Amino acid sequence: MPKIFVTRPIPETGIKMLRDKGYEVVINEAAKDRAATLDELKEGARGVDAILSILTDKITAEVMDTGLPTLKVVANYAAGFDNIDVGAAKQKNIMVTNTPGVLTETVAEHTFALMMAIAHRIAEADRFARAGKFTAWGPELFLGTDICHKILGIIGLGRIGSRCALHATKGFGMKVLYYDPQPNPDLEKEFGAIFVADIDQLLPQCDFVSIHVPLLYPVKSSEAGAKQFDGVNSTHHLINEERLKKMKPSAYLINTSRGPVVDEKALAQALKNGVIKGAALDVFEFEPDITPELKELDNVVLTPHIASATIGTRSKMAELAANNIIEALEGRTPPNLVK
Ligand code: NAD
Repeated sequence: MPKIFVTRPIPETGIKMLRDKGYEVVINEAAKDRAATLDELKEGARGVDAILSILTDKITAEVMDTGLPTLKVVANYAAGFDNIDVGAAKQKNIMVTNTPGVLTETVAEHTFALMMAIAHRIAEADRFARAGKFTAWGPELFLGTDICHKILGIIGLGRIGSRCALHATKGFGMKVLYYDPQPNPDLEKEFGAIFVADIDQLLPQCDFVSIHVPLLYPVKSSEAGAKQFDGVNSTHHLINEERLKKMKPSAYLINTSRGPVVDEKALAQALKNGVIKGAALDVFEFEPDITPELKELDNVVLTPHIASATIGTRSKMAELAANNIIEALEGRTPPNLVK
């Protein structure tokens, strides 16, 4: 009977699919509210056919080795897969899958929730109201920034980026510019998104910049563990001090992709010194830690990596991850194979 190790509890729908197949499913219940430890991962992987992993859990070559020779597939419960050493998995003939698509709409919604929250100063005003400071309506109380008819720069026009382009153009009458190493003329036609070949040319034109790229590192380092590498299209610190300075002082940065895509220390300085007007972040460079300066600033909205966190979407992610395992163990190519 195939054995599956689930690194942290996930919605029951996915677990049920695996148990209905007759698989033995072991869930690392101890890691309900925290990342799994290396020891838990190594112990859990021993002798299994599949690992269902959560993005907090680094599936390194060392973890995969403890699963060999039985381990056939690592199914990530996320669209990103920067927590899995895909290169090592390939070498060991282990398939890696992810859960793209089912979370696109939810993450795009959250991106707009963040954009609206920072532009309309929602979190700041909420704190003010709760503190009993609302004494009278005021003509200049919490003046914010309109989103309608502004320019949105999208970095990475993939699934989530293009859904954001749809909201921006059709919902808010925004002009959308985008940068992506792979231009998409169909999406340009569909949403009127305008391709800008150089990110440094895009940044100075935008009122809002929203990031939707995968996390890719430029070079392999010995401590890298489960990181993905792409020397040409590396996205680590894609937004750094220099690029923040290229943005308008009135502009806002939104990040729902992965924390290390932004140099968080440089961002905190830029927000403090008025280099840009504000930022709204769902992801952090050193998750779950957040650069302390960011927490002290009012021109930042912070959410704890919850952009895909709706009941419906998390269930669909669980089902997709389970389906990828079933397909792989039944000898078929899983639909979301990471190549
Ligand atoms: P996708 O693969 O459909 O799109 C990614 C796009 O980024 C592609 O068009 C790709 O060409 C582009 N890209 C790659 N390198 C780039 C670079 N250097 N500069 C600019 N663009 C580049 O992925 P998606 O489903 O849209 O998801 C995007 C990312 O969002 C995921 O990789 C994941 O890390 C993140 N994500 C976060 C959450 C969350 O909870 N906050 C949820 C889902 C996904």
